[in-house]
Amino acid sequence: MGAAAGADRDPAADLGVARPVPAAGRPVTARVVAVVGRVGHVAWRPSWRCRACRRPWPCEPARAELMASFDRIGRCMYVAELAAEAARDLPGLTPAQTYARFIAWARRRGPA
Ligand SMILES: [Zn+2]
Repeated sequence: MGAAAGADRDPAADLGVARPVPAAGRPVTARVVAVVGRVGHVAWRPSWRCRACRRPWPCEPARAELMASFDRIGRCMYVAELAAEAARDLPGLTPAQTYARFIAWARRRGPA
C-alpha cells in the first residue's frame, strides 16, 4: 500500500537537497533548506546561481524568504557561512562583492 505519487511530494527532493525537517531542535542550516527548498530558489553550486530563476544567489525571492523566516542574527550567521563557501567556489568574487551579495542585505532589520 503506497501513498499516491505527488500527493505528498517534496519539492526539495527534486533539487537534490535534504528533505525538509521540522524546525524545532534543528540547526539553522536545516531550517534554511526547509524554507528555501520549498520555493525552489536554492543555490546551484559551484556556480552559485539560483536553480529556479538562474540569477546570482541569493536572488530576490530567496532573500525575501530568508528575511521573512529568520531573525537577523540567525540569518546573518547562515549567510556568512555561505559567503565563505561561495568565496572558495568563485575565486573571481572580491571580498567586497561577496559581502554585498551574501551579507549586507541580511543585516537589514526584517519585517518580523
Ligand atoms: Zn531564484
